[in-house]
Amino acid sequence: MSDLSMLINGLKVTAEKGATFERRNPLDGTVATRAPAASAQDAIMAVEAAAEAFRTWSETGPSERRTLLLKAADALEAKTPAFIEAVPAETGATAMWAGFNVFLAAGMIREAAALTTQVAGEVIPSDVPGSLAMGVRQPAGVVLGIAPWNAPIILGVRAIATPLACGNTVILKGSENCPRTHQLIVEAFQDAGLPPGVLNYITNAPADAGAVVEAMVAHPAVRRVNFTGSTRVGRLIAMTCAKYLKPAVLELGGKAPMVVLDDADLEEAVNGAAFGCFANSGQICMSTERLIVDQKIADEFVRKFADKAKSLPLGDPRKPDPVVLGSVIGMSTVEHCNALIDDALAKGAKLVCGGKVDSTLMPATLLDHVTPAMRIYHEETFGPVKAIVRVNGVQEAVACANDNEYGLSAAVFGRDIARAYNVARKIDSGICHVNGPTVHDEAQMPFGGVKGSGLGRFGGKAGIHEFTELRWITVQTQPRQYPF
Ligand code: NAD
Repeated sequence: MSDLSMLINGLKVTAEKGATFERRNPLDGTVATRAPAASAQDAIMAVEAAAEAFRTWSETGPSERRTLLLKAADALEAKTPAFIEAVPAETGATAMWAGFNVFLAAGMIREAAALTTQVAGEVIPSDVPGSLAMGVRQPAGVVLGIAPWNAPIILGVRAIATPLACGNTVILKGSENCPRTHQLIVEAFQDAGLPPGVLNYITNAPADAGAVVEAMVAHPAVRRVNFTGSTRVGRLIAMTCAKYLKPAVLELGGKAPMVVLDDADLEEAVNGAAFGCFANSGQICMSTERLIVDQKIADEFVRKFADKAKSLPLGDPRKPDPVVLGSVIGMSTVEHCNALIDDALAKGAKLVCGGKVDSTLMPATLLDHVTPAMRIYHEETFGPVKAIVRVNGVQEAVACANDNEYGLSAAVFGRDIARAYNVARKIDSGICHVNGPTVHDEAQMPFGGVKGSGLGRFGGKAGIHEFTELRWITVQTQPRQYPF
C-alpha cells in the first residue's frame, strides 16, 4: 500500500487538515493507495504556485524546455517497474498494458520536446504602409489537466507534456482510481529537474471532484482546461468552463464502429477486431464497440472471431502468468455490462461467447444480431462486451456507423482500398483507419473526436494550437497616416 503526497510549488504536501481517501484494488478490495483529499483551498494554492512559476517558465528558451522534457522521458521509462506494480494494483489492468502505456507516453514526451521549436507564428501582409504585422503564438498561462484511469500513463502525460512544451505551467488533477500511477508521472518530471511550481499535482476524494475542479477553473490564472474522461462529466466541465469563459479541450467517450465490408481479408479483420475490442478489456476510448459486418461474410467472420475471442487468457494481472484480460476497474462496469447483456438477449440478440459474470474478471463477450432497439447498440460498454450488427451493403454500413451520439475512432476493413477509403470519408468521427484497428494512437497525430466525443485535438502541432494564445502584434516602421 502506498501513502501519497501532492506536489505544490515543488514541495510534497498533504491536504488541508490531513484529509485522505483510499483506492482499493478492484479484484480483492485490498487498499492499494491512500492519497490526500484536496480541498478547494489546496487546489487554489496549486494554481497560485503555477501562476508564479509561469512568470519565469514562459520566458525560457525552447532548448531549455526540450532538454528537461527529454530527461523526463528517460525518467519515466526508468520507472517502468514501479508502473508495472502500481497499475495492476490500482486499476486491475495487466502488466502488458502498463508497459505499453510507458512506451507510448515516453514517446509523447519526446514528441512534445520536439515541438518546443515549432511554436511558430507568421508574418501577415498588412494594408497599412510600413506595418509589420505578425501572428504570434505565446504560452497561454496556467493549464489545468484532468486525466482518467483507463490509459493512466498515456493520458496523464498527455495532459502535461505539450502544455509544458509551449511554455505553460500545469496542474495535474489525478484520477481517484489511480493516484499513485499519476504521481509516478509527476515524480518523473521532477526527477528531470523541472523548476518548482511548473508542474503541480493534486488528488481529491471522489465526492469533492466538482468543487475542486470549479475552484481551479474559476481562478483567473487558469487559461486552459483539458479534460479526458466521460461525456457525462465532460458536459459538466464544459458548463463550468462556459461560466468562467475558459477554453476547454474535451476528449470524451466513444462507441467506435469497425465496418467489415464483404471483400475484407477476414484473418486481418479478426486480428484487428480482437485487438480493438479487447485490449485493456475494452476500457479504451477508442475501443471497438460495434462490429458492423456485411451479411454476406457475417457467419464466417463471427465464427473466426469467436474462436479468437475464446482463446484470450483472463486472470489476476498481479500473478506471474501473462494475461490479455485482467480485472476491469470495478463492479460498476460488471453491473453495467450485465444489464446490457440482459437487455440485448431479451430483445433477440444471440450470445456468441462469454457472458454475464459476478466478479471483475470479465471474459471476452460477443453478442450477434444486435439491433437499434437494444441499449448496447447505442451505449458505451467500456468493458469487454461487444455488439455485432449485420448490414446489407456499403450504404447500410455507413448509416449504421453514423447512427450514434459519439464520433471518436472508427475502422473499415476491405480489400478494395478505394471503396474502403470512401466509406472512411463518410464516417462521422475524428479518427478512422482503413484495414487497421480502431485502437491506435501516435504522439504526432491529431487526436480527438466529433459529436459527443468532444472538442479540440491533442497531438503534434494540433496541441500547439490548443495550448497557446494566437496574438496579432504589429510594428509600425514608418510614420503612419491618420485621417485627422
Ligand atoms: P469520468 O468522467 O468519470 O472521470 C474523469 C475525471 O473527471 C476524474 O478525474 C474525476 O475526478 C473528474 N470528475 C468527476 N466528476 C466531476 C465533476 N462533477 N466535476 C469535475 N470533474 C469531475 O471518466 P472515467 O471513468 O475516469 O474514464 C472513462 C471515460 O473516459 C470513458 O467514457 C472513456 O471513453 C473516456 N475516455 C476518453 C478518452 C479520449 O481521449 N477521448 C480517453 C480515455 C477515456
